[in-house]
Amino acid sequence: MGTDCLFCRIVAGEIPATIVRETATTLAFRDIDPKAPVHVLVIPKEHYADVATLAEADPGLAGEVLATAAVVAEEEGLTGDGFRLMFNTGPHAGQEVFHAHAHLLGGAPLGPMLC
Ligand code: 5GP
Ligand code: ZN
Repeated sequence: MGTDCLFCRIVAGEIPATIVRETATTLAFRDIDPKAPVHVLVIPKEHYADVATLAEADPGLAGEVLATAAVVAEEEGLTGDGFRLMFNTGPHAGQEVFHAHAHLLGGAPLGPMLC
């Protein structure tokens, strides 16, 4: 997708980000405005507008995003007390960046819902 997409620009190295894990197909980096002590975004390097589009087009890649999130959760020390993994999808969910991304949240009790 290229220059119009913020997260494609992070993948390309055009915008700095604090990267915590990179694989051949996925990237995990810290959210610029964290909503929890640990708040990491996990994305496919390839552009898909949202997780539904990603899962339909390439379920294997969607699984790789989940697998990267699980490794980051382990590395961030979240697996004991638990964590939240969520994909905002579309306007009712408040999706702001239209490049599929998982929010990995943890490090404190998160409550029943987090926007
Ligand atoms: P959404 O609302 O689309 O699910 O989440 C987008 C997320 O991207 C937000 O949590 C927001 O803080 C984060 N974000 C927006 N711009 C940047 C940026 O330039 N760098 C990083 N690391 N995160 C960003
Ligand atoms: Zn993109």
